[in-house]
Amino acid sequence: MATDWVTESSDSLLHFADLILSSVPVRHHRAALLDKVQDQMRQYARLEAEAEQAALALSEVKDEAVSSISEGSEVNIEELAERVKCLTDRYMQDKLAAMGDLNAHDKCLRLARMVDAATPAAAGADEELVVTGMQTATRDPWSKQEIRRPYRNRRCDHVYDHESLERLLGEKACSIKCPYMGCTNKRPLTWDDMMEDPVAKRAC
Ligand SMILES: [Zn+2]
Repeated sequence: MATDWVTESSDSLLHFADLILSSVPVRHHRAALLDKVQDQMRQYARLEAEAEQAALALSEVKDEAVSSISEGSEVNIEELAERVKCLTDRYMQDKLAAMGDLNAHDKCLRLARMVDAATPAAAGADEELVVTGMQTATRDPWSKQEIRRPYRNRRCDHVYDHESLERLLGEKACSIKCPYMGCTNKRPLTWDDMMEDPVAKRAC
């Protein structure tokens, strides 16, 4: 079945991520590799959802066809195929809406957790943990210094020091992305997305 193939492939992708985390040094192309793995995992999540919805639509249409045949009605195969397609699309929309986001798929989550868990250890034992997610980091991801003036990125809730942002963003647009491992925000950083964060300041 199609979903078995997706399950196997996404499992090997998890192993691949594990291999990257254990053998590619942080300063190499690790982040780019992990980004690709995460992208691929989202595609698998989508394929899996699609295969499930198609199977659902198929069995529904089959049941309808069987009852039409038993009532003696004509059955048009092309019409049936079209109906399976439409139903699959509709179920898929509902499914995606229910998932919110492909990142919420359990393997995408597992992958994100793996990446997050491996980050502090790989960054060096004496460096303070850089917490991802809604929590507050106490060190700036670039300078590794204590954050003095926290700015929060509205798109992913990660916190940086104003000084680093100033240095990196300057006044012109640039293509630097959020440096936190496992961050799903792929948009280049802009001042528009930053807000000064007094709560993070107190927590520092
Ligand atoms: Zn981020």
